Amino acid sequence: MAAVSIYEVGPRDGLQNEPESVSTDDKVELLRRLAAAGLARIEATSFVSASWIPQLADADDLVRRLPPGPVYSALVPNARGWERFRKADIPVAAFFVSASETHNHKNVNRSVDAHLEAFRPVAESVRNEGLRLRAYVSTVCGCPYEGDVPAARVVEVVRRVRELGADEISLGDTIGVGSPGRVRELVRAVAGEAPLDGIALHLHDTFGRALANVAAGYEEGVRTFDASLGGLGGCPYAPGASGNVATEDLVDLFAAEGIATGVDLDALVATSAWMEDAVLQRPLPGRVYRARRGAAARAEGALSD
Ligand code: MG
Repeated sequence: MAAVSIYEVGPRDGLQNEPESVSTDDKVELLRRLAAAGLARIEATSFVSASWIPQLADADDLVRRLPPGPVYSALVPNARGWERFRKADIPVAAFFVSASETHNHKNVNRSVDAHLEAFRPVAESVRNEGLRLRAYVSTVCGCPYEGDVPAARVVEVVRRVRELGADEISLGDTIGVGSPGRVRELVRAVAGEAPLDGIALHLHDTFGRALANVAAGYEEGVRTFDASLGGLGGCPYAPGASGNVATEDLVDLFAAEGIATGVDLDALVATSAWMEDAVLQRPLPGRVYRARRGAAARAEGALSD
């Protein structure tokens, strides 16, 4: 039994920030490898408009080919996405809202209020069909337009998405400006509104603080953390790079602390190596991944010398 749940978001949040087009066959293979590595919860894709994110335009085909094992989610941005989602056999629907008004407006051209009200019928449909709802609340530590986002504001948005029926709420440090103290304050504030077993942290590594922030979140009682294999989507050369923390970095951190994640680090590193060599053909940024690959290459070089 894993003490910590790693929520793999690479196939959706990672790939949507990658410039290279990835075939549906390769996405199915990626999911198969992630499942084999022990990732039990995976966000597979998004039912977003194909014109908005062409990389995920194959969502309807992909969800018919999901490898068995993991509990999958898919992003459902709106009613049109829901009509596509409901044809698939996926137990968890996910949606986004920002804690900051300006970020929400830049993303969906609506206020937080209007966005949540527009999503309400979808949330009701999700519940009526006995499915689960995962809410991503972004900009929880800071907004690229407004700067600091007070914890009280995040708590208010958490309260609103719980009213919509969200079973799990993933708090996203979208621009990676959080610090351990800030994360502690945030988790304590949110714990007054929602049970922590329904709270996840989605921490970006933009400024190299993600692992410190994960540790702070863990010490405050959070047990679910989002991550992307190899740091997929966090490429510094990709415009709009997400900065997702690498799954290997989380698995390695928890392993070093004797905390089980149920994820096979070697299998995960091999999966990122396959993505890098065979699919994307450019380096992935994850630090533990890079170190492990470097060590393996040096060992091979030493043997062949
Ligand atoms: Mg992300």
